[in-house]
Amino acid sequence: MRLALILTTAFLLVGCGSSGGGNTVSWKRDEWGHRPGPQGFTTVIIDAGHGGRDPGAVSRHTGAREKDLALDTAKRLQRKLSGKVKTVLIRKGDTFVDLDDRVVKASRKDGAILVSIHYNSGPSHVRGPETYYWRVDSHGLATRIQRELEKVVPGESGNLGKKRRRLRLTRNPDVPCVLVECGYLSNAAEARLCNDPGYRDKLASAMARAIVDQQRSGDAGTGPRPRPLNQPPSRPTDPPGS
Ligand SMILES: [Zn+2]
Repeated sequence: MRLALILTTAFLLVGCGSSGGGNTVSWKRDEWGHRPGPQGFTTVIIDAGHGGRDPGAVSRHTGAREKDLALDTAKRLQRKLSGKVKTVLIRKGDTFVDLDDRVVKASRKDGAILVSIHYNSGPSHVRGPETYYWRVDSHGLATRIQRELEKVVPGESGNLGKKRRRLRLTRNPDVPCVLVECGYLSNAAEARLCNDPGYRDKLASAMARAIVDQQRSGDAGTGPRPRPLNQPPSRPTDPPGS
């Protein structure tokens, strides 16, 4: 099994390197964030998921739309971080922004990190926040955010944890990046919680604490970093879960 893994990795590396001729992609080691998580970053780019013609998930329990809850939570997070670190909102109102445009906007900023905020949908019994990351340099931040969220989320919500997943907003930006699914709008109890502004304020405070901790301490105390994975950018045509 281990040998097969090594051979597969070697093949992938050779495969990636051999396709580099003539295109503009740099294959330097840090290209996909294979480095420790950032400390002392200057800017937090806050991305409210969906918007405009894309409502995201709509709760059949409360009628709340993911795009509205995400924007509200993003603005709360911005207020919590005020005076501590510079912040940029990718969208400030109910506007549609293509995922690839979000990647471009996030990648323009040196010394920045990206936090994308979403609310989830799935089977009705599933609940709890999840934090997604892909890059090695985003593992510490994902760990901190998930840890802080679990402190403010009711115990019965379950611990869905942080997950390594290659998404357009976890793999493609040129800055450390995480995507937070704050809770399941498809679960009756969690949908009601997420509809409460006070609860969303607690979620925003939790994320702000995690971001400030990461800025101050880097990856210290967030456990071993994951191994680098060489995978191409995420595309909308990729099969789900790939
Ligand atoms: Zn979403």
